[in-house]
Amino acid sequence: MRIDVVTIFPGYLAPLDEAIVGRARRAGLLDVRVHDLRGWASGVHKAVDDSPYGGGPGMLMTAPVWGAALDEVTGSGDTVPRLLVPTPAGAPLTQERVAGWAREPWLVLACGRYEGIDARVLSDARRRMPVEEVSLGDYVLAGGEVAALVVVEAVSRLVPGVLGNPASAELDSFSDGLLEAPAYTRPERWRDLDVPDVLRGGNHAVVDRWRRDRSLERTAAVRPDLLDALLARHGADAFD
Ligand code: SAM
Repeated sequence: MRIDVVTIFPGYLAPLDEAIVGRARRAGLLDVRVHDLRGWASGVHKAVDDSPYGGGPGMLMTAPVWGAALDEVTGSGDTVPRLLVPTPAGAPLTQERVAGWAREPWLVLACGRYEGIDARVLSDARRRMPVEEVSLGDYVLAGGEVAALVVVEAVSRLVPGVLGNPASAELDSFSDGLLEAPAYTRPERWRDLDVPDVLRGGNHAVVDRWRRDRSLERTAAVRPDLLDALLARHGADAFD
């Protein structure tokens, strides 16, 4: 899978050399390319921003610079990429969206800064490729780089071959619409706290039932919205 990230702070993406994503890149499973947006800016100052029409505080990233960058990056492959644009105004990032993106051959991430990107950049890109705006949550970051790191890491671990044991992703929180049950490892007793007996009994059906029940309890306590979504989608059968 190919992933391009366009940013004015390429150094911010250095963690993509580390851990699971770094290993996957070195193994040739992921082709991640980070581009400096200023490479498409002109003038002595290589400005990428200007003041917004209609007034207001802050600066906006300009259409000509982003347009040139996206034309070159998205036109540099054999296929058409999916453009992902981090913004607090996007639909929330979910495991379902991540799983869909992990099946794509090519993603391009456009990292905004300042007050964001001139809206025409996305209108123009939509004429040539699928575009999705994505929010990490209901808060405002200073730039899209952290969101790009989050998306690349979440997508990468679903790309075949990236995780040593693919079953671990299948059992993660959200894959069945619920939060994962609490988990334990050795020692059996630690600071007078014991691992639940059922997990040491060796009966897999009982363990599965226990995990499912804890998963439902935890989801009901912390994320009742997820239970509502399951109910709406599958009816009461979802909780068997
Ligand atoms: N003026 C924008 C608004 O109110 O929607 C906020 C701009 S923010 C200061 C600058 C950049 O940070 C955005 O263009 C986006 O790339 C990124 N960003 C900020 N919050 C984000 C979030 N919750 N999710 C994803 N990206 C975010």
